[in-house]
Amino acid sequence: MKEINSDLIERAVSLADEHLFPKALETDRAGKVPSQQLDLLRESELYGIFSPVELGGLDASPKTQWAIIEALSGGCLTTSFVWAQHAGPSKAAAETTGPMRERWGRALATGEARGGVAFAHLNRPGAPTLLAEPDGDNWLLSGSAPFVTGWGHIDVVLTAARYEDLIIWAMIDARESESLSSKRLSLAAVDSATTAELTFTRHYVPEATVTAIETFESWAERYKTGLRANGSNPLGVAARSIRLLGSSPFEEQLVEAREHLDSATSEELPLARAVVGELCVRSAAALVAQVGGSAMTIEQQAQRLAREALFLLVQGQTMQIKKNHLQLLTSK
Ligand SMILES: Cc1cc2nc3c(=O)[nH]c(=O)nc-3n(C[C@H](O)[C@H](O)[C@H](O)COP(=O)(O)OP(=O)(O)OC[C@H]3O[C@@H](n4cnc5c(N)ncnc54)[C@H](O)[C@@H]3O)c2cc1C
Repeated sequence: MKEINSDLIERAVSLADEHLFPKALETDRAGKVPSQQLDLLRESELYGIFSPVELGGLDASPKTQWAIIEALSGGCLTTSFVWAQHAGPSKAAAETTGPMRERWGRALATGEARGGVAFAHLNRPGAPTLLAEPDGDNWLLSGSAPFVTGWGHIDVVLTAARYEDLIIWAMIDARESESLSSKRLSLAAVDSATTAELTFTRHYVPEATVTAIETFESWAERYKTGLRANGSNPLGVAARSIRLLGSSPFEEQLVEAREHLDSATSEELPLARAVVGELCVRSAAALVAQVGGSAMTIEQQAQRLAREALFLLVQGQTMQIKKNHLQLLTSK
């Protein structure tokens, strides 16, 4: 695995600049991501960056993945956001020793199948929203997953449900059934990424579809260090706003914010992540101010980027990131 795969990053940058960005306003309004755009990502082999070579993937290093996520998010956040969900199931299928490796590993690595995730509810305080109940060696899931992006675009959802102090991770077919219903959310930004709330009613999950069982504590520790990757979304949107603005002090701030995020320890990550979120909002707001009144017309990239910057304040937000966002946004 190369630390930085420049060819792959260059491929993502070209795709973002030449195809995704010119179509981003259209995609924003389309109500779903046109399948041609997801096909372009597949043809560019970008669905494979999260998977090992032996499954047909490209085994990109974390740094390469971050740069690719940033480039694609700066092209069209909606398309990139649907695609980025693929990371979770791709890694789960590659790492499990159970039957899900065979079932999904290669299909996800090649982009023949697309995946999403339903796990952020684990961060919610209070009683778990999605519970797993043992049924012999199998499981029954009941409750809700409040945000699942890509519904209608994806084939499988890596889903996390709580059982006592454990988390049960399972690959669930992304389709409705008598025991699994979806309600699409109507969103002020990235609406075309089709985010749905899923409701499970004693949904049968065979043991074979379980990729891992771990304690909540071990996941929570791991999740803290995983926050770097989703910082690439606001970096990408900020970078695009900054580019459209032209020469400005934001250029240096972007480089500093990225370096801060890259070098942060898990304790430092929430602040580093919030600095990027705040920079994203400020740079998109500056672009709106620079463009002037027409920035509010639906044909303008500025209003889209500003709405996306607001969305990125809450996407992947944890309690610690939220505190830091509020601190930065309320101080002069
Ligand atoms: C459009 C959209 C798409 C998304 N897509 C996905 C997806 O595909 N898959 C996925 O898994 N997630 C997804 N998410 C979830 C996302 O990653 C974040 O988890 C979510 O936005 C965070 O929301 P929240 O800030 O309301 O916090 P939540 O975790 O939902 O918590 C609700 C509230 O509880 C309070 N709270 C949280 N933690 C604590 C605590 N420790 N102590 C006290 N109070 C606390 C806070 O006030 C918080 O705002 C999506 C979110 C959005 C908005």
